[in-house]
Amino acid sequence: MQPVIGIDLGTTNSCAAVIEQGKPLVVPMADGKVTLPSVVAFKDGQRLVGDAAKRQFVNNVENTIYATKRLIGRSFDDPQTQDAIGRVTYRSVRGPNGDVWIHAADRKYAIQEVTALVLTEIKEACRRHLAQDVTHAVIAVPAHFNDRQRTATKQAAKIAGLEVLRVINEPTAAALAFGMHFGAERRIAVYDLGGGTFDVSVLKVGGGAIEVLATDGDAFLGGNDFDHRILGWLVGRIEKQVGMAITNDPVVAHRLWEAAELAKIQLSTTPITKIALPFLTTRPNGEVVHFECDLLRPVYEELVTDLLQRTLTTFTNTLAAASLTLQTLDEVLLVGGMTRMPAIRKRMVEITGREPATGVHPDLAVAVGAAVQAAMLGEQTMPAVLLDVTPHNLGVMTVAGLAETVIPKNTKVPAHVERRFTTVRDDQETVRIVVYQGDSRQIDKNEILGEFQLESIRKAQRGQVQIDVGFSISTDGIVHVTATDVETGKAQEIKITSSVGLSKADLERMIAEHQQPAPATP
Ligand code: AMP
Repeated sequence: MQPVIGIDLGTTNSCAAVIEQGKPLVVPMADGKVTLPSVVAFKDGQRLVGDAAKRQFVNNVENTIYATKRLIGRSFDDPQTQDAIGRVTYRSVRGPNGDVWIHAADRKYAIQEVTALVLTEIKEACRRHLAQDVTHAVIAVPAHFNDRQRTATKQAAKIAGLEVLRVINEPTAAALAFGMHFGAERRIAVYDLGGGTFDVSVLKVGGGAIEVLATDGDAFLGGNDFDHRILGWLVGRIEKQVGMAITNDPVVAHRLWEAAELAKIQLSTTPITKIALPFLTTRPNGEVVHFECDLLRPVYEELVTDLLQRTLTTFTNTLAAASLTLQTLDEVLLVGGMTRMPAIRKRMVEITGREPATGVHPDLAVAVGAAVQAAMLGEQTMPAVLLDVTPHNLGVMTVAGLAETVIPKNTKVPAHVERRFTTVRDDQETVRIVVYQGDSRQIDKNEILGEFQLESIRKAQRGQVQIDVGFSISTDGIVHVTATDVETGKAQEIKITSSVGLSKADLERMIAEHQQPAPATP
C-alpha cells in the first residue's frame, strides 16, 4: 500500500512525516535536514527550492520567493495582503481573478504554482526516502484559513501531483502528535507561534477523539514580526553610528534581517548575543563600515512586549470563547519555532499555572500529527474522530447589503445549513447570492467567496418560487453551495459569476506544465 504523507507547509519552513510500523518518521530532505525552507528561486533558467534558494537570496532578491503562505488564497486588494506584499522583496501583481500572482524571471506565477514547487521537493524527498512513489497526502493549514486559502492549498498540491486526502488544522495535528487523543478526556489549549502566523485552539481530547472547541489567531503575527523589531532597533543603532541611511540597499537589508533572526534565536538560549556585521556597507567617501554590538535578552523582550501580549490576549479570549477557565484547562501545548523563546514559556506558565507538555519537538509536531491523521485515514480506523470547527462565520449578503450569518464561527464541521430564498419580482429568472466568510457585520470587511447566481428560475409570481440553498462546509473546511426548487424538488442551476482564485483552465494548464521535465534543482 502506498504511504500517505503528512505535510506541514509552513510560512518559513516545511516538513513531512510518515508513520512507519506504527512510529512517526520525519522525512529527511535532500540535504539531510528535517525541515525545508519554504523558499523558491528562479535563476538562470533554473528553479531552486529550499536551502539552495535561500542561500542565493542576496544575489537574486527579486526572483527569490518566500512567505507565500501569507499570500495564498488572498485577494490582492485586501489591506492585509498589501501589508504582506510590502514586506517582501519580490514583485507581486494582481492575478486574473483578483488574487496574488508573482512576477519573477520574466513570467507570472500563481502562488499555487510556487507553492507546488516546495511540495514537489517534499514529495521527491519522500519518494527517495521511502523508495516508492508518493501521491497522497494530508496537509495541515492554520485553523483560521478560510475556504479560499484551503482550496488554494489543495490546488498547489494538485499541481505538484499530490492528492490531498484531508486538510487538517495545524493545532489538531499538534494534538495528535502529542498523542492527546489517547487517555482520559481533557481540555487542552494549543498555542502555536510560527514564522508568520499565530494560532490558538482549545480542544477536547481523549477517548480516541479530538474535538476543536474554539479557535482564533492572527494571520499576520509571527516570528518575522519579532525579527522586524530587532531589525528596527539595529537599524537605529547602525544609522546613529554611521550617520547615513543604510536600508535602501537590498543586500544590506537582507543581512540585517538575517542578523536579527539569528540574534532572536540565540537569545532563546543565551542572555546576551553579539551581532557582528563586518563589511556592511561603504560611506560616500569609500570608507568601509563594520558594525558590531551586543543585544541583551531583556532589551529584546522589551522590544517585543506588545507582540507577546497580543498573543496572550488572544489566548485567554479563545479560552473564554470555549467556555473554559484557567482552572478547567488541563494541558497546554506549545507549537512552532517561536515557542522556544523563554519569555513565551514563562508567561504561559504564569498565566496557566502549569508547565507546557513536552515530548514532541515544536518544529515537527504539526507534520507528525498530519502523518498520524494520514495513517488513520489509510487504515480506515477512526476517520471521524477529528471534529474540527469552522474558524469564521459563513454568510450571505442581505438585500440591505449587510452580512448575515448562515453558519456561525466555531460550528463543528462537516456542517450543512439550508436557507430558503424567494423571488422578489414577478417572473424573476435569476437570484443573486453573495457568499462571504468572515466575522464582520460589514460585508466589505469580509472575504467574498463568490457570487452565486441561481439561473433559469421558472416564471411565477413574486414569492411563489422558493429555493432552498444548502451551504456546506466539508471536513477540509471547504465550502459548497447547492440549490433546490422547493416545489419541484429539482436541483437549481448555480453559476459562480465571480470568485477569486484559479480558473479551471489555469489550474489544468499548471498541472500539465508542472509535469513537464523541469530544469533540475542542483
Ligand atoms: P515555524 O514556522 O514553526 O518553523 O517557526 C519558525 C519561526 O520560529 C521563525 O520565526 C524562527 O526564527 C523562529 N525560531 C526558530 N527557532 C527558534 C528559537 N530557538 N528561538 C526563537 N525563535 C525560533
